[in-house]
Amino acid sequence: MSDHSRRIVVLGTGGTIAGSSSEAGANVGYTAGTVPVTALLDGFSAPAGFELHVEQVAQIDSKDMDFATWHSLLLRCQYWLRQDDVAGLIVTHGTDTIEETSFFLHSVLQSSKPVVMTCAMRPASSNNPDGPQNLRDAISVATTQGATGVIIVCAGEVHGSKDVSKVHPYRLNAFSSGDAGPIGYVEEGKVRLVRNWSCYDAPFVGNTAFPLPAANEWPRIEIILSHAGARGEIIDTLIREKQENHPDAVAGIVLGATGNGSLHQALEKGGIAAQDAGIHVLVATRCIAGHIIPSLIEKLPLSTDLSPTKARIALLLQLLKDRKELVV
Ligand code: ASP
Repeated sequence: MSDHSRRIVVLGTGGTIAGSSSEAGANVGYTAGTVPVTALLDGFSAPAGFELHVEQVAQIDSKDMDFATWHSLLLRCQYWLRQDDVAGLIVTHGTDTIEETSFFLHSVLQSSKPVVMTCAMRPASSNNPDGPQNLRDAISVATTQGATGVIIVCAGEVHGSKDVSKVHPYRLNAFSSGDAGPIGYVEEGKVRLVRNWSCYDAPFVGNTAFPLPAANEWPRIEIILSHAGARGEIIDTLIREKQENHPDAVAGIVLGATGNGSLHQALEKGGIAAQDAGIHVLVATRCIAGHIIPSLIEKLPLSTDLSPTKARIALLLQLLKDRKELVV
């Protein structure tokens, strides 16, 4: 490394971007998380003044993401962000849960440097893999002056962690930030911003430190979706486990509501009973765009602007903070 260049550290966690298939060129039915991140970056160079440094943190299909992997990834992000010569990070990740990992990191990391997550919808062994261009775009974003926060770069779009969701199972531009729209676009290696980098109340720079327990001690929080014919028996079972002091009883339940926070009456009744039994209950809409407009007659606490999966992470972190067990 030259004396004055700054490092961009690429952390590999697996996903389709690192996927391969035994059937030549196949775009479905491949195995995610098989190609080492060093191989994905073979032949890549950083812009003048920057150098790439590559590290494998995990090698998994992100549908199987777990607290232990989040913990390891968080520790490596913290370590590298603290190094003075590191300008930013890139994290390669599967598309299935990238929005959850990015929201988690965005909620707990403390830095002004960018953490750019990227992914792919076609495996590395495809005849037309999209991973290489996504990686080039991620490098462009990570080396852009002023970039900050944990962001997702895919198919030329730059998304913020709070608003982004995977909305398509197959097409290359599989992500949407709903009504908010992307933060910007990457065009020929240049970032064109349409919103500010720091467009969130989630305080990436101002996050406070709190202890993080061992991964097997994180609170259990279940998501239950409201739908036609919904029944309350699952909630009854969770309440019973809580009342019997089951070692793995839930600490919280996120109810995935229809529309503007409405719940099937069986789930609303179950949610109120769960709350009375000491379980933390949060209602979030399953609509993929917009947010819940609260009314005066809410019977359960709302997460107005997070998806059920992100509301679950917010509740998880809130419970850890309340237990004073989150120090990162
Ligand atoms: N199942 C894969 C994963 O999330 C899908 C992908 O990366 O596109 O790891």
